[in-house]
Amino acid sequence: MVRNEQQSNFWSSRVRADCMAVDLHLHSTASDGTMEPAEIVEKASELGLSTISITDHDSFAGIDGAIEAAQSRSVDIIPGVELSAYYRSQDVHVIGYFVDRRNALLNERLSKLRESRGLRAKEIVVKLQSAGVNVEWSDVERIAKGEAVGRPHIAQALVDKGEAQNISEVFKKHLGRGRPGYVAKYVMEIEEILDVVHQAGGVTSLAHPAHWDADEAVLRYLQSHGLDAIEVWHIDHSEEDVRRFNDMASRLGLLMTGGSDCHGERKKHGMVMGSLPIPDTIIDPLRGRAQEIRASLAQ
Ligand code: AMP
Ligand code: ZN
Ligand code: FE
Ligand code: FE
Repeated sequence: MVRNEQQSNFWSSRVRADCMAVDLHLHSTASDGTMEPAEIVEKASELGLSTISITDHDSFAGIDGAIEAAQSRSVDIIPGVELSAYYRSQDVHVIGYFVDRRNALLNERLSKLRESRGLRAKEIVVKLQSAGVNVEWSDVERIAKGEAVGRPHIAQALVDKGEAQNISEVFKKHLGRGRPGYVAKYVMEIEEILDVVHQAGGVTSLAHPAHWDADEAVLRYLQSHGLDAIEVWHIDHSEEDVRRFNDMASRLGLLMTGGSDCHGERKKHGMVMGSLPIPDTIIDPLRGRAQEIRASLAQ
């Protein structure tokens, strides 16, 4: 297959000279990242990123701070949110971009998800205590400063208390599926996520599809329920994954998104913001799709 230069350059490890780099998957202290929204914007500006998206789990709380910090810098902020589903017994994440943060339905769902996260985190602490792990709820509360409490906060608490060397070890020993501290999260159905994000005027993208090896049949199914895009670039994607998902997106007529999924220092890859060759040419099609969705809602 002959590919045009633009396509082939999507795969290379550098962004084309006539493009700027973007990063559309970032976590702040509003969920389980370690950087404040303003710090993220400052870093993005230093890195020369033209557009970033704050995509916290189940929360918009980081976005206002990012937009405010971006006023004095040349970085565009796309409001985003990352939502989880269990699909075919696997963890599947969808990011909504350009969502209307005042949308009542979406906010009602997010509040419920965050409330359940709090209850689940307390349940995990109790399970860990029963398994003989030295941890108190107050240890977790000190770390989870934002809105959406998650397992990485609990993992951090255990590392800080010397119960484990690092976060990966905590997941392996205590928090992963089948481990003593595992508690499933309350989530929405994937079809409902796609619908609710659209109703809030947002564009939907399947995050890190390599995590569960999404095949074309599944993508077609999700597309028929409102999936607009797939995350082609992600810190866990190999060059081969990038190529494969780029091809799949072209074949299915899905848009492309990409982001590092940087959580600051709290994940194994560390400070990876801006480290992927994601060209700003992906932004206009996403904006166009958002406009179409808004227009169809107005009818
Ligand atoms: P939660 O939403 O509370 O279930 O936590 C999910 C978060 O934990 C996501 O940001 C994952 O990237 C992170 N996570 C899941 N598994 C691991 C792991 N083995 N090591 C480190 N972080 C993980
Ligand atoms: Zn996370
Ligand atoms: Fe994710
Ligand atoms: Fe993420």
